[in-house]
This record gives sequence, C-alpha cells and structure tokens, in this order.
Amino acid sequence: MPASGDAPDRSTRNAGFRTGIGYDSHRFADGGRTLLGGVEVALHIHLAGHSDGDAVAHALTDAILGAAAAGDIGDMFPDTDPLNEGRDSMEMLRAAVALVAARGYSIVSTDITVITEQPKIARFRDAIRASLAQSLGVSVDDVSVKGKTNEGMGWIGREEGLGCIAVATVFRDSDGSPK
Ligand code: MG
Repeated sequence: MPASGDAPDRSTRNAGFRTGIGYDSHRFADGGRTLLGGVEVALHIHLAGHSDGDAVAHALTDAILGAAAAGDIGDMFPDTDPLNEGRDSMEMLRAAVALVAARGYSIVSTDITVITEQPKIARFRDAIRASLAQSLGVSVDDVSVKGKTNEGMGWIGREEGLGCIAVATVFRDSDGSPK
C-alpha cells in the first residue's frame, strides 16, 4: 500500500467501470453505398464522408476511446492522411478496441441511437447489433441499437443527413491486465 499522501499507483488508479460517449453525423449524397455499423442499409442516397461514412462505427469508436480517455478517432486516423481515404470504418472500430485492450480495458456494453428520418433503423437493428458485437468481441445482448426520427425538424428532418450518438462502457481490472 502506498504511504498516506503518496500519489495513487497508476496500475490501480483507473480500475473499474468507465463510460465514454461518441457523436457523429454524415451528410447524405447521391450514389454509392450506405453503411451503418458495417451493414449495408437500403437507401437511394449514401453518406458522404472522407471514409465510408459509417456514422455508427465512427460514433462508437469515439465512445470506446473516450471511455479509456484515449483520444479520438481523428487522432488515430487523421483525415489529412490519404491512407485514411475510404478506410473501412469497422477496421477503425476494431483498432480502437485493440488500443483500449492494450491498456487493460475490455468492452462491457454499448448503446447507440441513430437519428434519421430514413431508413427505418428497426429493419436493420439485429444485423447491425450482430456486426458490432463481432467487432467488439461481446455478445449481441451487450449491443443496443435504436432509431429515432427528428420529427421532421432541422437538418435531419430535411433529410440532409443523419446523426448518431453512442455510449460505451468498459471495465478494467485492478491489476490493469488485458482481459
Ligand atoms: Mg464520421
């Protein structure tokens, strides 16, 4: 045990449950594919973006990095790097999981809300949950995906794009060893 007044031991300081939040939005554009959580969703317009525009994967990646106070997706994959153009967003998600695992954190659960007028997320919910669970290394029961419209209001209501909010909970043992 450290003597009274000593700085806490770094190996035990961050033990326990931690939560991170992530947000992403993408503008709709004509043509191309639309991916959400690695699942192709039927839509006549696609999500514009430097990468494949997968706002679910991007928000969740930020939530996981945030839970471990490990920076954000832009730190890991700067959009100034041409190598990141068109990069598979699920690959970025898996890289974030690996980064926090190396710091001793295991993924516990995630809850995601996609805010969009279209497509109806419920149609794709189970496929997205299964896709994310596989990349996170957790059970489908640990992955929640919900869809909300914006009741026709604002840029989402005008169907200019969609938004996504993700929360991730991670756990780190007292010894800090990866699970
Ligand atoms: Mg994005």
